[in-house]
Amino acid sequence: MKKHGNLILLVMIGLTAALTVIVNADDQGDAWANKKSGWLLLSAADRQQVGDFAEDYKSYLNVARTAEGSTREVERRARAAGFTEYTDAAQVKPGARLIFPNRGRALILAVIGSRPILEASEVVAAHQDSPHIDLKARPIYPAGGFALFKTIYYGGIKKYQWSNLPLALLGRIDTSDGRTLEVSVGLNPGDPVFVIPDNAPHSDSELRNRTYTNVLQGEELDPVAGSIPGEKDTVALEVVKLLTSTYKIKEEDLVSAELALVPAAHPADVGFDHGLVGAYGQDDRLSSFCAVRAIEDLKGVPARTALAYLTNFEEVGSVNNTGAGSEFLSSTYAQLLSAQRSGAFNDLDLRQALHNSQVISADADDGINPIFPGTEEPSNAARLGFGVAIKLYGGGFNAPSEYTARLRTLMDRDNIPWQTQTPKVDVGGGGTIGGFMSRQGMEVIDLGVPLLSMHSPFEMSSKVDVWNFYRAMSAFYAQP
Ligand SMILES: [Zn+2]
Repeated sequence: MKKHGNLILLVMIGLTAALTVIVNADDQGDAWANKKSGWLLLSAADRQQVGDFAEDYKSYLNVARTAEGSTREVERRARAAGFTEYTDAAQVKPGARLIFPNRGRALILAVIGSRPILEASEVVAAHQDSPHIDLKARPIYPAGGFALFKTIYYGGIKKYQWSNLPLALLGRIDTSDGRTLEVSVGLNPGDPVFVIPDNAPHSDSELRNRTYTNVLQGEELDPVAGSIPGEKDTVALEVVKLLTSTYKIKEEDLVSAELALVPAAHPADVGFDHGLVGAYGQDDRLSSFCAVRAIEDLKGVPARTALAYLTNFEEVGSVNNTGAGSEFLSSTYAQLLSAQRSGAFNDLDLRQALHNSQVISADADDGINPIFPGTEEPSNAARLGFGVAIKLYGGGFNAPSEYTARLRTLMDRDNIPWQTQTPKVDVGGGGTIGGFMSRQGMEVIDLGVPLLSMHSPFEMSSKVDVWNFYRAMSAFYAQP
């Protein structure tokens, strides 16, 4: 931040004493000027923990590349940490560690507290889906001697970022004869990948006047799926034959499939100092991972029931029965409440339980970009490495101030660095799942970790922020 002259205020105290107060007139108050990078607050032991946490995070990101992939990996980790699937009300006892699955695409992990859920509970909510490119129902077509995939993009992508990039094909095919086949091509050594071909600079003069957002258009996001023709058949027919014989399906089975193209690159550290994690899908599997680790690492019986709520479809408006717009969370509350009240469930109790709950709506946010600093309003933008961002969007979207104060106090108590994030007026923005919970009467705050290259195929986060977000969630769950 630029500094200009100092304004010297002379404050007279009594008749004789004068106190000199120096105010940096053009600077922000000391509270902000003195905020240090989270890296400068670490002991040697902390630094080791930051590194270890990031390694575990990267191993999760490497396999959790879709909402379904994340759900599967989170369930695997949860079972290893002593969680079991909820099947019976008798399981709901203080200290119980339960999994509430939702169709393999969303889930809730819960640790039952000593206090009744009617009185108090803590939810960390995040989404597991990330922007990607889906296959259309009739996905293979011939073009220029190649077979290409017909696609439709999902979420807010900048389309040009997805060309010339190795893409993996992940998802499932459900056949008319009742089988579910898992598809995963492009992540293992020797696997083929799929690539959207851009035009060479040698022949693109007529394309050069396209605007920033239209370098590639929606119907041009079609990667190469094959290139070898058959003796009689076209390349496209050969690819269809390969696909149907590999998975023992009919071509029509691709209508009942969820197949996503996602970046095939593996997570890696960014920078000589290994300070950043670079990987696809950190919005918002960063928050998902922190929530899962925080609830798994809860020791003993917490006072308040803790829930980690991992949703789907946030990037397209939290739609469907696995999105945050569904009743999945309130139905899970109803199950827990009914179990704690020996089956005597009533709707007023449910509303009371939701009213008495506290929520961290956790989602990544945009950090100041060193190349384009002007796209943020720097005095209120989040910076990588400076801790958990309290998102203050304005326009009625902020958490109630008393709840914000409570979270600040909690983070200050544990020396967890935090900052704030407000987008540039009339320019920036973004949505979270917080609104779906606050309309149920729950107390909700939006917290996040800033990313560089957000929503791109390779997003970057600061390892120290990821660790501090986990610590904030752990402190939140451990409240009396
Ligand atoms: Zn997000």
